[in-house]
Amino acid sequence: MNDILPPESARWEWLEGKVRGLMARYAYQNIRTPIVEPTPLFVRSLGEVTDIVEKEMYSFEDKLNGEALTLRPENTAGVVRAVTEHNLLYEGGKRLYYMGPMFRHEKPQRGRYRQFHQIGAEALGFPGAEIDAEMILLAQDLWFELGLKDVRLELNSLGQPDERKLHRAALIAYFELNNDALDEDSKRRLHTNPLRILDTKNPQMQGLVNAAPQLINFLGETSLQHFTAVQSILTANGIAYQINPRLVRGMDYYNLTVFEFVTEKLGSQGTICGGGRFDYLIEQIGGKAAPAVGWALGVERVLELLKEQGDAFVMPVPDVYAITPDYAALPLATRTLQTLRRQGIKVQMHGRPTGSDATGMGSMKSQFKKADASGARYALIFGADELANQQVAVKSLRDGQGAQTLQSLVAIETWAQSLLT
Ligand code: ATP
Ligand code: MG
Repeated sequence: MNDILPPESARWEWLEGKVRGLMARYAYQNIRTPIVEPTPLFVRSLGEVTDIVEKEMYSFEDKLNGEALTLRPENTAGVVRAVTEHNLLYEGGKRLYYMGPMFRHEKPQRGRYRQFHQIGAEALGFPGAEIDAEMILLAQDLWFELGLKDVRLELNSLGQPDERKLHRAALIAYFELNNDALDEDSKRRLHTNPLRILDTKNPQMQGLVNAAPQLINFLGETSLQHFTAVQSILTANGIAYQINPRLVRGMDYYNLTVFEFVTEKLGSQGTICGGGRFDYLIEQIGGKAAPAVGWALGVERVLELLKEQGDAFVMPVPDVYAITPDYAALPLATRTLQTLRRQGIKVQMHGRPTGSDATGMGSMKSQFKKADASGARYALIFGADELANQQVAVKSLRDGQGAQTLQSLVAIETWAQSLLT
């Protein structure tokens, strides 16, 4: 679990800002649900025989009432719970998005943390393939906004439960024939959840899994039509994709379209975003039956990939650093700074260093050093002589280094605007 500290946290805020803007353009509304939910919610929605439920959840008992609780390992279950509890679909579909921490007790490694962050989008109450495509277009637009390159889209269809039943039988027969090649997890899952075997990360099993019966060959006409419709919208929008018949995702709640955005640049933690349709989940957790589709991206992985590529993010700096040589200057100086801030100017006021006496502000030299280090474009110097004339000195700290002008405090609004250009 990581602390996210400045200046790195600015990069997080930058990404979150891009997401908010984009979600607004697609008319997705923000939802914020608790990070703790009753354990059975996750067990029932993700599926008992999944990596997350079997090995990765932080579950505990509420000491006061004995309730079984879990730190959310993902947020689709929580969103569906909230949507159901508050009857949000009563007047039709809802498009929602969230951002926040998730918790999985995994082996820590690059791109895999125990508290990590997801941004997710869910469209609930919409059955159409066009919404599956909208989800993918939305994610693709985000990569564009962020300047993210080298991501590839993989697509598959998991069909419907009755189609999966037929495939399941074929899968079990195939893996039974190859029982010796199965690892322990897979042997255990062979009869409880054979589809999960396809999602194995065990390198020794990749050959076996690649040759397994493919779900796509078991799909009926309606499922295939849905899949084709998604693809034709993607194609019409110039979105490249590859069909990966092995792509099954890690949770049990998916049907029809599933997809992942993958990169080769992050080693084995190459999936930056995954999603799909979950038309049965709402009913399964007790809501009125309604279709849905969504995705979630891993913020840490997206940021790491961006860094790898040398992103366009520019660290924000103050416009102005205020130097106050004398304690007596503070009342007038602070008033001036407040005016500037209200004009939209980013102002950092010099902070008196520890150990200085009650009226000591630190030497001019040390104040200028701080001003330089802040990255500010201008230093404002509230010297006693200038203030006596109702003026302040403005010194350029970057281009035109050292150029200094005097500005009148009376005309502050006017020159404030010039600082912004
Ligand atoms: P993986 O196959 O890498 O384990 P996953 O299928 O378990 O991923 P999802 O549950 O689909 O992941 O979550 C969506 C995204 O969240 C992933 O694509 C990934 O970017 C991110 N993610 C998942 N688990 C972690 C983690 N432990 N640390 C950081 N990011 C994660
Ligand atoms: Mg995982």
